[in-house]
Amino acid sequence: MKVIDHIKKASGETQFTFEILPPLKGQNIQSIYESIDPLMEFNPPFIDVTYHREEYVYKELDNGLLEKHVIRKRPGTVGICAALQNKYKVDAIPHILCGGFTKEDTENFLIDLDFLGIDNVVALRGDAIKSETYFKPNKDGHSYAGDLVRQIKDLNKGQYLDEEILNTSKTDFCIGVSGYPEKHMEAPSLESDLHFLKKKIEAGADYIVTQMFFDNQKYFEFVQKCKDFGINVPIIPGLKPLATRKQLNSLPHRFHVDLPEDLIKQVIKCKDNKQVRKVGVEWCIEQSNQLKAAGVPFLHYYSMGKSDNVKAIAQAVF
Ligand code: FAD
Repeated sequence: MKVIDHIKKASGETQFTFEILPPLKGQNIQSIYESIDPLMEFNPPFIDVTYHREEYVYKELDNGLLEKHVIRKRPGTVGICAALQNKYKVDAIPHILCGGFTKEDTENFLIDLDFLGIDNVVALRGDAIKSETYFKPNKDGHSYAGDLVRQIKDLNKGQYLDEEILNTSKTDFCIGVSGYPEKHMEAPSLESDLHFLKKKIEAGADYIVTQMFFDNQKYFEFVQKCKDFGINVPIIPGLKPLATRKQLNSLPHRFHVDLPEDLIKQVIKCKDNKQVRKVGVEWCIEQSNQLKAAGVPFLHYYSMGKSDNVKAIAQAVF
């Protein structure tokens, strides 16, 4: 079932959902099930599965020269989605990127999803490859998520890249896109970012999932600004419970989000990461309760492969 239909079906009730990432290459799917099993009692209508693009690694040769290898450390997004739909009878939502994909790769990826009965995707640009500073699209790929949304919508109309294919069947994807309450790191201003967010919606995206935030005010202001810009699709808040002291620096660095002073002070007082995890859970419960009271359609948790803290939050909120 599509995300927008889950919203209609819930008739105003906030539902619990979460995102997982594929395990590192070499691990099996059991590790995914072990992190998901404890969360299924909260009846998530869907589970997101992230996509991880290729990276460059350099291996030293006998002659001292370096040889460049292209590897993907976390493959398996589509396989995991199919396995989740089969095992848990839940909708699984693969993320799909511009980065590393030609338009032909994208089309074939979408055909696989369609054949597997997956009818939701989250369409993203993706970041630059780790060893590069700026995002570079594939030679025959998309530069921005909006262009990717357009290709998915074309397929929904039965328009394939090869116009000579006749009697095509139409796909029926519901499309989510990302939104940044604290602005995307490359956007020169929030207004500019909202301008392009609106373009993604006009291209056919059905809903927005936000980057994590730790201050609900930022989310509420973002929702209002979206409305002022004429963006009227559902905006799903993404939440991540803080789990280690190191994240005081790594989360702002990696995701370009601010942490509230009060949260920072509480974390600094902690003696170890066990205490930090507790502070993170309590903070996230407060955020969740306030957002739920405001009537958000879903609370979407970034589980990062660990379910104990997300479970503690879900127990308190749902
Ligand atoms: P876009 O919407 O394309 O925007 C990128 C930047 O370009 C923004 O600054 C925007 O303002 C600007 N822009 C947009 N369109 C145009 C245009 N036409 N002309 C000029 N400028 C434009 N990354 C992964 O690798 N895998 C994942 O699974 C993944 N999941 C994510 C899930 C969520 C909910 C979020 C919020 C992020 C996720 N990311 C993921 C990270 C994401 O790929 C990065 O944040 C990336 O840098 C931007 O992707 P985007 O889709 O937001 O890009």
